[in-house]
Amino acid sequence: MSIIKVKNLTKYYGKFKALDKINLSIKEGEVFGFIGPNGAGKSTTLRILLGLLRKDDGEVVLMGKDPWHDAVELHRKLAYVPGEVNLWPNLTGGEVIDLLGRLRGGFKSERREELLKRFKLDPTKKCSAYSTGNRQKVALIAALVSDVDLYIFDEPTIGLDPLMEGIFRQCVKELKKAGKTILLSSHILAEVEALCDRVSIIREGKIIETGTFSDLRHLTRTSITVDTIQPITGLENLEGVHNPVVEDTHAHFNVDAEKIDPVIRYITQFGVRSLLSTPPTLEELFIRYYGDEYISSQQEMSEE
Ligand code: ADP
Ligand code: MG
Repeated sequence: MSIIKVKNLTKYYGKFKALDKINLSIKEGEVFGFIGPNGAGKSTTLRILLGLLRKDDGEVVLMGKDPWHDAVELHRKLAYVPGEVNLWPNLTGGEVIDLLGRLRGGFKSERREELLKRFKLDPTKKCSAYSTGNRQKVALIAALVSDVDLYIFDEPTIGLDPLMEGIFRQCVKELKKAGKTILLSSHILAEVEALCDRVSIIREGKIIETGTFSDLRHLTRTSITVDTIQPITGLENLEGVHNPVVEDTHAHFNVDAEKIDPVIRYITQFGVRSLLSTPPTLEELFIRYYGDEYISSQQEMSEE
């Protein structure tokens, strides 16, 4: 059953088309990644799903309801961590966790204590005094403390150190085990790859791919380095082979996923001494789609 169903969702900010006929279908119990560079339209999509923003066109169904009209009812069954966490500055972290947690179903104080310990958060400080990372922890704990059917996280690990990122991942895995549905946006490939069953890639308001990681890997090329007894000839004429470099009995080339088998068969006639195959990374796929945009967003990340 689909927990989230989005069809041809379109959103304008003034004349600017932020979302262009987005389609998404997220099944019950799935961890779904929504990935794309900054400005792609991730937060806009999630805000519409949450009924915080009005769509211009298309259909959005969340747990069988309309997020714009049934927001109150829906918000009891879902937990949300926004992209930019703005907490009430005069409340303490603990107060925010209690307030947001109790608004939704299934608040348990043991769970609250457990999460505070795991994320190493001091709940007695005023939100205005927290660092970005600690404000993010407050928002995450407030969401994780609720026992709901659907969890939506918009770039959840921004500002968290790697150790806390690990704790968050662990929490997502536990939610999945408990049969919850999770929608997670990110512009960090590794994060989504570690957690998600399926992903949609969004760019400039359009979904460009949807599938499992192995589906997406089929779109990429494997890199092959091979040493042979006789020099390989005719490599450049094989279908699916790219950038072949042959130096005597040593050769290197890239091959399309669906052509690996015939290409490997072909080269065995030259007597294979050693063969190294490097599986494609999604990183490469991203660079193909996003080009410099993707590379610079990763650089920004590492500078932060
Ligand atoms: P993401 O979350 O993927 O980084 P957003 O959904 O925040 O992307 O933004 C998508 C596009 O819409 C961006 O070009 C952004 O500048 C624009 N945008 C977002 N919010 C507004 C707004 N309130 N008014 C005008 N443009 C906006
Ligand atoms: Mg965003």
